[in-house]
Amino acid sequence: MLRELDYALVGGGLQNGLIALALRAHQPSARVGVIERGAAIGGNHTWCFHAGDLDPERARWIDPVVVTRWPGYDVAFPAHSRRLDSHYACVTSTRLAEVVTASLAVPGSELRLHTTAVEVGADRVVVRDASGTTEELRAKVVIDARGPDASPRSACGWQKFVGQEVILDTPHGLDRPMLMDATVPQLDGFRFVYVLPLGPDRVLVEDTYFSDRPYLDVGVLRERIAAYIAARGWSVARVEREEVGVLPLPWSGDAPTSVSPLVAGYGGGWFHPVTGYSFPIASRLAELIATTEPDRLFGARLDGQARAHGRQVRFAHRLNRMLFHWFASADRYRVLERFYRLSEGTIRRFYALELTAMDRARILFGRPPRGLSVRGMLGMEVA
Ligand SMILES: Cc1cc2nc3c(=O)[nH]c(=O)nc-3n(C[C@H](O)[C@H](O)[C@H](O)COP(=O)(O)OP(=O)(O)OC[C@H]3O[C@@H](n4cnc5c(N)ncnc54)[C@H](O)[C@@H]3O)c2cc1C
Repeated sequence: MLRELDYALVGGGLQNGLIALALRAHQPSARVGVIERGAAIGGNHTWCFHAGDLDPERARWIDPVVVTRWPGYDVAFPAHSRRLDSHYACVTSTRLAEVVTASLAVPGSELRLHTTAVEVGADRVVVRDASGTTEELRAKVVIDARGPDASPRSACGWQKFVGQEVILDTPHGLDRPMLMDATVPQLDGFRFVYVLPLGPDRVLVEDTYFSDRPYLDVGVLRERIAAYIAARGWSVARVEREEVGVLPLPWSGDAPTSVSPLVAGYGGGWFHPVTGYSFPIASRLAELIATTEPDRLFGARLDGQARAHGRQVRFAHRLNRMLFHWFASADRYRVLERFYRLSEGTIRRFYALELTAMDRARILFGRPPRGLSVRGMLGMEVA
């Protein structure tokens, strides 16, 4: 029975899955324990990221979990369509679970499934397994990444969606993803459909909303997905998988901290407040953790990364306040339409949450999109 670890990773989701992989690459003999309350690592997700978000040399350890890569992507709005050449990539939770599980199958490391962390300290974790037995694990470094449910809820809008991975009767003919098809009727906030070609006749179609409310009627969204697929002239042979998300998009809240135990991932604020996504940020944090000696982790490098991320988060909070307060929900798409007229570099750095001062100026200044509400800017209700 394992009790002494170098790293105890609490929560086997995206953040700690990436940390486990980075540790195996950079510190092959580290004793790593992952504690996950569910039946597998990673849950039920398709995670995408802009491949340029990560340094390909430093982040080679991510390659085994990438299932598909594309040379770019498209966006479409009522008054503007564009093809972008930023590489885009996709990771599935199934692949992440396989690779992380294999990486932990070495002496000294361990994956504990169906096991809940009931106490998390700087160098100890108390866990309870499915039979109700509790045990204390000790570790040099404890990383707490228990996900969105564990984060305190601050003022926010919501990104909510239903995605269906379907097999079509005939090939779809797409060679790259449609990241935002906002030519669909604008309902319940900013609405767009996200289309990911995963094989010649396989697509993931997600109906997505940047909404004021977390409420999601899954049945209605399924119908809208079916209508979108039919409108594209495709017909569905079968639905293979479905994923549902309701992600908070905060416009206030604490900056991430760098104290021990490290609260990482979504729960620690290591995600993108405007997109609700965390892949690039989680990967960079994983890289830093794995390339720092465990005894020196809580020091200048981590502090620096937390401060830099905190600055980006504060700007992203400001963007969310503007998006959700300054524009009526039916006009929100215009903000994104204008955003997609910016340079490809600024767009890429926005998704990576690595905006420069010049990028911020480009995003904030210039001719505002139609629909900007003076009432909203003054903090009053917008219809
Ligand atoms: C359907 C969907 C699609 C998404 N698509 C993307 C995308 O394309 N790109 C992107 O970057 N992001 C995407 N996101 C967001 C992304 O999934 C989250 O930002 C990310 O999962 C956060 O990682 P995390 O490790 O902090 O939390 P999670 O991945 O949620 O992992 C937390 C883990 O902790 C476990 N846990 C909780 N409490 C305990 C406990 N007490 N003991 C033990 N284990 C515990 C949970 O079971 C879970 O496995 C998507 C989200 C959803 C819902």
